[in-house]
Amino acid sequence: MKYDINKIRSSFPILHQQVYKKQFVYLDSAASAQKPVQVLMKEEQLHNDYYGNIHRAAHFMADKATVEFEAVRDKVQKFINAEYRKEIIFTKGTTESVNLVASSFCEKYLNEGDEIIVSEMEHHSNLVPWQLAAERLGAKVVKLPFSDNGVLQIEKLPELINSKTKLISVAHVSNVLGTINPIDEITKIAHEKGVAVFVDGAQAAQHISVDVQKMDVDFYAFSAHKMYGPNGVGILYGKKKYLNEMPPYQGGGEMISEVSFEKTTFNELPYKFEAGTPNITSVIAFGAAIDFINEIGIIEIGEWEHELLEYATSKLKEIEGIIFYGESPEKSSVISFNIDGIHSYDLGMLLDKMGIAVRTGHHCADPVMQHYKIQGTIRISFGMYNTKEEIDVFIAALNKVRIMF
Ligand code: PLP
Repeated sequence: MKYDINKIRSSFPILHQQVYKKQFVYLDSAASAQKPVQVLMKEEQLHNDYYGNIHRAAHFMADKATVEFEAVRDKVQKFINAEYRKEIIFTKGTTESVNLVASSFCEKYLNEGDEIIVSEMEHHSNLVPWQLAAERLGAKVVKLPFSDNGVLQIEKLPELINSKTKLISVAHVSNVLGTINPIDEITKIAHEKGVAVFVDGAQAAQHISVDVQKMDVDFYAFSAHKMYGPNGVGILYGKKKYLNEMPPYQGGGEMISEVSFEKTTFNELPYKFEAGTPNITSVIAFGAAIDFINEIGIIEIGEWEHELLEYATSKLKEIEGIIFYGESPEKSSVISFNIDGIHSYDLGMLLDKMGIAVRTGHHCADPVMQHYKIQGTIRISFGMYNTKEEIDVFIAALNKVRIMF
């Protein structure tokens, strides 16, 4: 089936606006993706038609909301090919998913002196929670480095793993470098030595077909708002063999089985990890985002975005003084760069005045900036709705700014 970009764009009203009287060009989907009308309408419909708190009450509205909420768990299970629906936990976002595992997994499995390997290309969300857990338990975070071209040095992994290593945490796709990491190779090396693998999929699930069983990951996290869904919803996939053993992350309603002052017992999976009222509306609307992606096809979206990536990279290469960060042969929809002699922040500000939204700064990945000894970069990132024409507008604006400097 032909990739119908006009039809896709017609679902995103925000893209048809003008900014500062200029055509709006959104090249910041890695930070957060725009939402299609299908998602916005689902949220509204829920509030108009069948809102109630889920799981608890025995009345029509609550029952209907519960059924819809739990149906999204099934959709997510299918979307990432998890073996069991109870392995899907709803959180606030990738950040909370990492914190949950860093807290509960580490409490159960880490002892003083143990080690967690974290890649050098991580977002702060997938580094700081491990540092906090390590500090609390007297454990250590060990760095798995990447090469200057942005490729992770997997060959170093076997020598970094020792009897103290309990977990490896790595991004599926880097939010700065765009590198797609070879997760199946990593899990193979780790599992041969009995080490668990956590994968941060915040920049992957919207671009790549994710199969948690095929990759054999132990944990996989991602955020709805980067997948054309609402804010405030994240997913944590975890193998039940770990989730069953891990203590609850937070206490509260829903996560318990029986409570008394003497003794409290906990609910079964996944509810053990879903304390309190979840973000009901947004989870249900996230289901509409998954339907939307499935209708177009994640493979088709990935292929379209790859075309945009190659087109934009070739155009950018023609710009004098350009420096790229991240030139892995396996790359997703992100390009980070600087132009010699121009501060990334100044460039971002001027592009904004021309209607073009890009990201500038450290992208919450200070260790990547330290690797290249830079303060920040300009980052453009693509979603399913971007076009080559938009890239042309961006390149023309970039050339204008360069001449101004
Ligand atoms: N991990 C990566 C690779 C990211 O790019 C981001 C956000 O940009 C996060 C984690 C954090 O995601 P959230 O803010 O949705 O929790």
